[in-house]
Amino acid sequence: MCALASFPRLYPDELLYSGLARYHIRSGNQSFRQTDLDLFGYSSQQACRVTLTNNLKGLVKQIAHISDYRVRSLMEHNTLYPFYAAFLSPIEIRKLGSATIEKRSGSILEQARVDLDSTSDRRKYLKFCPLCLTTEIEQYGEPYWHRLHQIPGLVICTQHRILLLDSSVLIDSHGVHYHAASDENCIVDMEQSELAPDSLKHLLEIATDLVWLVDTRIDFRGMGWLRDRYIAQLCKRGSVKKLLRGEFKFDERELFQSFRDFYDEESLNWIEPRFVDTEGKYLIHCLFAGDLDPKIDRVAHILIIRYLFGSITDFVMSH
Ligand SMILES: [Zn+2]
Repeated sequence: MCALASFPRLYPDELLYSGLARYHIRSGNQSFRQTDLDLFGYSSQQACRVTLTNNLKGLVKQIAHISDYRVRSLMEHNTLYPFYAAFLSPIEIRKLGSATIEKRSGSILEQARVDLDSTSDRRKYLKFCPLCLTTEIEQYGEPYWHRLHQIPGLVICTQHRILLLDSSVLIDSHGVHYHAASDENCIVDMEQSELAPDSLKHLLEIATDLVWLVDTRIDFRGMGWLRDRYIAQLCKRGSVKKLLRGEFKFDERELFQSFRDFYDEESLNWIEPRFVDTEGKYLIHCLFAGDLDPKIDRVAHILIIRYLFGSITDFVMSH
């Protein structure tokens, strides 16, 4: 195998996958498998190299002679590792870190406790902001996939305060793929959805919380601890009564009504339709049984935290 001639310089907040896909185009490789061989030294069957990348150590070794990328920096700045790590316990963070760095056969999505069950079609495709796209074509001569735009549940570009659009690139298709952002897969639909001002405000607040989560290491002590904090706060607000033997009393409908009034149906449907579709069952599940679920729907918890504590920063400061 011949050594790689060049590896693209990553743009600000570029998803590593996007850089790999730009490499694929420049290499002239006919198959994604050949690109895998070039970049990692082997071709993996692992489906997801999009928001989390496995075997960064292998990649950095393969491109060491043509770039000075470091494993830790790629992981922290060009993948969604810090986003997923934010709701994991210290031991889970270590496991996810080693699945990201080393060559492992298990599913990195399982290690990250990624929620793939969302009913939202809006989480299926790689996203882009039409204004970022235009600016970057002018500035760099090509568009790229932003990492922050791919955070599950983030629907607004926090820089331009407009809705992100779906590209035609599926995040979870079977087998590895490398599709760089382009005019062909990022079609700007002129008939953009209009948001009510209140919905825009909510969606922007949630997007800001999600971005904050990527940039900040919080002292998170596990999902059981989060559940206990929810219950303590609900008891303080009088929405839940603690009974003997660790049982609780609450009015499911009233609780959901108050949550739905706090946001609005449009905002909830944009972010996580399960809240509305299940008429509160999903809210109750996240509040009282999130610790029993192997997956963590981060944005659902961000919505709950904002509802109960004000914002993620208030939540972090209040313990
Ligand atoms: Zn933008």
